[in-house]
Amino acid sequence: MVVGTNRPTKLIIDRQAIKNNIVNQQAKLNDGTEIFAVVKANAYGHGLVGTAYTALSAGATGLCVAILDEGLELRRAGITEPILVLGITEPEQAALAIENDISLTVGSLEWFKRYREIQSNGDVLKVHIALDTGMGRIGFRDTDELSKALNVVQGEDFNFEGIFTHFATADEQNHDYFIHQYDQWKKLISVVNPLPKYVHVSNSATGLWHTNIAGNMVRMGISLYGLNPSGKVLTPTMNLQPALSLVSHLDFVKQLHKGESVSYGATYQAAKNEWIGTIPLGYADGYPRAMQGFHVIIDGGFCEIVGRVCMDQLMIRLPRKLNIGTKVTLIGNDGDKSISATDIADYVGTINYEILTGLSDRIVRKYIN
Ligand SMILES: *Cc1c(COP(=O)(O)O)cnc(C)c1O
Repeated sequence: MVVGTNRPTKLIIDRQAIKNNIVNQQAKLNDGTEIFAVVKANAYGHGLVGTAYTALSAGATGLCVAILDEGLELRRAGITEPILVLGITEPEQAALAIENDISLTVGSLEWFKRYREIQSNGDVLKVHIALDTGMGRIGFRDTDELSKALNVVQGEDFNFEGIFTHFATADEQNHDYFIHQYDQWKKLISVVNPLPKYVHVSNSATGLWHTNIAGNMVRMGISLYGLNPSGKVLTPTMNLQPALSLVSHLDFVKQLHKGESVSYGATYQAAKNEWIGTIPLGYADGYPRAMQGFHVIIDGGFCEIVGRVCMDQLMIRLPRKLNIGTKVTLIGNDGDKSISATDIADYVGTINYEILTGLSDRIVRKYIN
């Protein structure tokens, strides 16, 4: 992907915000509970390597990624702390994980069988066992299969390093399903003896709203970036400081006469003579096409997005003639106005995670603080 370093559109990542979020989370946890920063999907759009180093410098002791390649990129960048791949890696790729000291998630006996068929050279693979307590995604679901797998993973070709589960509803008002999953967890974990080094059940939402739950490591994702895992449903139990801003500038300004239209489909007509500004950012950058009618911030005031968002450009209605080069904030604060990734998500009917991870590599990332 070509990065737009010669374009005014930028993602500004405030490292201090990430650090503050980690320190605030740490303060809520029992002594000795570690934080692994979840930096999958380009660190939720914040930039994989820059975010990983920032999180580690603030006290995170390890990193979680979704796929092996993300872990390999972190190792190439010189990171030596523990890295866990949360998804399933093919047994054929496990040698790469061993070579790079990356821990893999295993969720079935079948995986161990396939692995042992191809790997017989005595190398030691670090493994976290996934338990499916109700997420219905990956992991062991019953104690019989789990017990068989425990026999295998206690062999000399494995370092049984962790065991975990993932909650489906930790960000919801109603706790019934959460409690159901926790009961399943207790049932499954009762056959695990001895316990491995890392016992982890907490994503961001669990770390915010269920802090009394057992475990000695938290997988901190969305809250690391300062966003509320529940969107606007639950109130965070600690200060969350959003780390990412999306800014650009006006690169074209003109006056439309009453009745003239803007963008594809000519869906917007000027109600009177209006000043219209153009911004070099569009849906190919991950700013959703459905944002027509929403707003951006200029000089501490909202300006409406008019006409359809194009692939690489969008248009806004200005309060008056403004100069080319005038700063525009699409996510972040300006004066007393702010727009969060959650606001954008709500407008298009999705969640802040999808907005952040959709921000494309074409937008240059700048780190501050
Ligand atoms: C992505 C992921 C997380 C992080 O989730 P957040 O809601 O962003 O905190 C934690 N654990 C697992 C297994 C995940 O896949």
